[in-house]
Amino acid sequence: MQPYLQLAQIHKKFGSFTSLKGIDLHIENHEFVCLLGPSGCGKTTLLRIIAGLETATGGSITLAGKNITRMPAGQRNFAMMFQSYALFPNLTAYENIAYGLYSKKLSRAEIKKRVEEVLDLVNLTSLASHYPGQCSGGQQQRIALARALAMAPDVLLLDEPLSALDAKVRDKLRREIRNLHEKCGMTTIMVTHDQEEALTMADKIVVMNNAEIVQIGTPQEVYEQPNSPFVADFIGAINFMKDDSTRELHPQDQQASAIRPEHIHLGSFADDEGGALQYGKIQNIEFRGSFYRITLQWMDDERLANPRFVMIDISTEQSKGLQLTKEQIIPFSLPKERIITFETEKPILVRA
Ligand code: ATP
Repeated sequence: MQPYLQLAQIHKKFGSFTSLKGIDLHIENHEFVCLLGPSGCGKTTLLRIIAGLETATGGSITLAGKNITRMPAGQRNFAMMFQSYALFPNLTAYENIAYGLYSKKLSRAEIKKRVEEVLDLVNLTSLASHYPGQCSGGQQQRIALARALAMAPDVLLLDEPLSALDAKVRDKLRREIRNLHEKCGMTTIMVTHDQEEALTMADKIVVMNNAEIVQIGTPQEVYEQPNSPFVADFIGAINFMKDDSTRELHPQDQQASAIRPEHIHLGSFADDEGGALQYGKIQNIEFRGSFYRITLQWMDDERLANPRFVMIDISTEQSKGLQLTKEQIIPFSLPKERIITFETEKPILVRA
């Protein structure tokens, strides 16, 4: 069966600068997809091309079997939500949401019903008559979300919608957006440079770097089986082994391997866990709330080039039993099944 939204060989050039190179991407109906990557990798350009706000230099876009590559933005039934809420300051929450619906030729009663429904969905019924200036940042973003949902778009496009909010509100809205997605089932594409946001919200993560897609997979796949040192380093913390002197490993660095800090076993029981026993001197103990990040200087440092440090995450509970102090020499082991190796020169898409 054909995917709901299909991008084939999308290229984009701004003058002589290439912003997107041969993007192939399939998105299923009802999927929540995150475009994740560092600043400047082309995420927003790709989202704008999907929205019809930017024209691709090459390639095609198909929605439900229909070629929409040249269809103007206004004719695509897509809704877009940005980091800046872009609400009309002189209209109430209700009026802001209703605004786009007038162009849909709905009756007053239908508009009222739909606005009330979405206000209820985002828990803002009590703020219907408030102006944006009377609402908090989180509330304004929920109004913007309600406005997008009210349009009942075929695809909802979110461009860093949470990045202007403080950490607590961001965290809450992440869950709200994800729950709303589960309730409404709207195909959603969200741009973010925040790996935690992508891991917690997406069904599928599309990792981009330098104008290309470098890996596509579920959050678990890209975290547990990153296909390149770039992805391993970009998503979550990682210890590289061999050639880690610069932390600038490239896919052609054959056989480079890595391990996540939480997969290393620390303490006297470490030798029971399947990897050869190593020793390290504690350099740093960092409290991170639910866990501690311990930095050790590796005593047998042949496998790690400069800097010869290894990060190990342990639960707060485990740290109590270990009674760790700086300069203490402590055993650890690297379970073989947890070591990630990067063997291929070309990135492999885990799941297309
Ligand atoms: P960020 O997270 O910082 O927004 P991004 O991954 O979304 O980054 P894009 O905004 O898509 O990146 O930009 C990709 C590249 O294309 C950047 O180098 C940017 O400078 C360039 N670019 C984007 N829009 C234009 C434009 N209108 N004219 C020229 N170059 C552009």
